Amino acid sequence: MASIVQFSDVTVPKNGKARQDHRALAQRLRPQRESLPIFTARSAIVQQVRQHPTVIVVGETGSGKTTQIPQYLLESGFGTIAITQPRRVAATSIAKRVAEEVGTPLGGRVGYTIRFEDCSSDKTQLRFCTDGLLLREILSDPLLRRYEVVVLDEAHERTLRTDILLGMLKDIQRERKRVSELHHPSVDGACRDHRSHGTHVTFDEPEEAVPVVDSVHGDVTGVGELKIIVMSATLDAERFSEYFDSAPILYVAGRQFPVTTYYTTTPQADYLDSAHLTALQIHTETPSTSGDILVFLSGQEDIENVERLLRDSAASLPAGVPALLPCPIFAALPQSQQSLVFDKAPEFTRKIILATNIAETSLTIPGIRHVIDSGVCKVRGFDPRVGESLLVEPISKSSARQRTGRAGREAAGFCYRLYTEADFAQLAEDSVPEIKRCQLSMVVLQLKAAGVADVMGFDFMDRPSKKALKHALLELYALDALDDRGELTALGRWMSEFPLEPSYSKVIYASQQSGCTREAIDIVSLLSVDSLFYVPADKRDESNAAQSVFRSSEGDHLTYLNLMRAFNKVKGDREWCQEHFVNRRNMKHVMDVRLQLNRLCARLGLDTERSCGTDLDGVLRCFLSGFFHNCALLQPDGSYRSLSGSQTVFVHPGSSLFGKKVPAVFYDQLVFTNKLHARAVSAVDPLWIAQASPKLYGRLNTPTA
Ligand code: ADP
Ligand code: MG
Repeated sequence: MASIVQFSDVTVPKNGKARQDHRALAQRLRPQRESLPIFTARSAIVQQVRQHPTVIVVGETGSGKTTQIPQYLLESGFGTIAITQPRRVAATSIAKRVAEEVGTPLGGRVGYTIRFEDCSSDKTQLRFCTDGLLLREILSDPLLRRYEVVVLDEAHERTLRTDILLGMLKDIQRERKRVSELHHPSVDGACRDHRSHGTHVTFDEPEEAVPVVDSVHGDVTGVGELKIIVMSATLDAERFSEYFDSAPILYVAGRQFPVTTYYTTTPQADYLDSAHLTALQIHTETPSTSGDILVFLSGQEDIENVERLLRDSAASLPAGVPALLPCPIFAALPQSQQSLVFDKAPEFTRKIILATNIAETSLTIPGIRHVIDSGVCKVRGFDPRVGESLLVEPISKSSARQRTGRAGREAAGFCYRLYTEADFAQLAEDSVPEIKRCQLSMVVLQLKAAGVADVMGFDFMDRPSKKALKHALLELYALDALDDRGELTALGRWMSEFPLEPSYSKVIYASQQSGCTREAIDIVSLLSVDSLFYVPADKRDESNAAQSVFRSSEGDHLTYLNLMRAFNKVKGDREWCQEHFVNRRNMKHVMDVRLQLNRLCARLGLDTERSCGTDLDGVLRCFLSGFFHNCALLQPDGSYRSLSGSQTVFVHPGSSLFGKKVPAVFYDQLVFTNKLHARAVSAVDPLWIAQASPKLYGRLNTPTA
């Protein structure tokens, strides 16, 4: 398996005292568990899962689907269970909660595995993971033999990876049924359930099955049938049921108090300002005992901006107004800082939780009575003419309703929509599944590596456009991951080992020849976060001056590298970060990613210490070998035009090349605010671009779009 295994986080109880503490906490949480709406459906759920290969569960957010169903199955004697989440924060924080409820240390019976972090062991029976991680696991364990049950959570979100998993799991389920019938033929061919021994609580280790070797499928040790549970927070579950041969749908009653919804009277020019002001208004005008505030924003950058605004306001609150505590929660937030959101605030303090749509349905945060909805979210998009983009876009009506619902979990609540009622009426009913609007090259590479030869004929629940699939195949061909018959090359297989977009793994591959693997890994890690610096609006000049010490005339990739070298020299010193306006939180994440990438590369036999020192041209050329599709040339009028789609792109104001004119650039990604901005931009020799991919530029220029 291409997993990046790190066991250092696993806490194993060293003495009886720790074990007692875990058990005592679980005891205390028990009444809470038993008061959840789902508790009464416990045996019905278990029974349905025993009887059917696939079950769809629909229930309001907070009814207990994610935390309870896996435990019910475990308690009823099912074997190892994987539960997928679209987001890493959800996987880690839910695993932590469930470990507490089960009464075991995290990483023992209950654990999680996400990209670049593994907190599980061979004892783990409930493994929370991201959907992307499980997809990678299929590469090394094509029948997912280690799991008896896979729970696809948050299926309503229809992320790209969940959709691909749906298709692959369906296939695996069919194959496992076939194989298991081959080895345990049953008279009537009905579903065999080799572990249905009542609903009593059992905590035994799963029994070791007798190894059986299948001549066609290799070692099929103990492979039984695969149970699939698809869970969704929205009612339209028929499609899932149809897709899984009319699987039964179980509806779990929710608990919802009325929520009063307010709209703004006029459209807001700046939703960050409005969010900040609305939060302050609620905080000063209602007693803090009336509940915490949850603000939905588009992403980490928004969150950190509002967090800063709130911290400033918190310092100058009028006398008699309780303290306020901004608590951010977003995908890249380090584990150590996540629990703040769930912890009770100190006395006379109100929490203002600043969240992405992670808090829409995946996480239930206790104590919320006020919701502020910015009305936007960040959406990954893809246009073959411009490449991948990350856009801030209006949410759907169904998202808006979910956000509102978060205010009424424990008592009647209030929702403040930072848009007008007329704007709400204009919103789309549902959001478009990611698979219909995303770049597909990474998943196509994974499908190919998992042995799906005919990607076009794959059983997608929603079929991506032919054009998008073709584009992905073409790009993988240009990256030399596929040959001209569309078959995986040795390089393609090597690239599929990386939990990275193929462009990045190609860069790392190329770095071996140029002798700059160290720099390549450093920069790829640095590009894994949204922002490395922060620029407070009122300290623009100051931060600019402080950050200029890192700036490279060649652009952002080498600027980031300079930052990493300096950061390492001071060992990530907190004050140093403050002085240079470096986002320390994100740098920590970068260092984690780097560590894991180094381990993976070392395992694949790369010399990760190979460095090119000061001769950095080779580094940029390596990047071009993966990013030749993200290039733009300077035009006579001073603008840049993308090479693959002839779109005008602007260098992001935060870039070290902002305002500079160089003949050619390549960029990491495009973001659209009011225009197309290229982010992480570096200058290159135009000749290098053609050399980087002669294959692509012959083809993409013929107008197929
Ligand atoms: P669902 O998956 O149906 O949305 P969950 O299983 O996530 O529901 O949550 C069930 C309940 O467990 C929530 O209503 C909340 O009360 C509680 N809960 C979940 N996670 C936490 C946590 N980290 N801290 C405290 N309570 C939690
Ligand atoms: Mg859930």
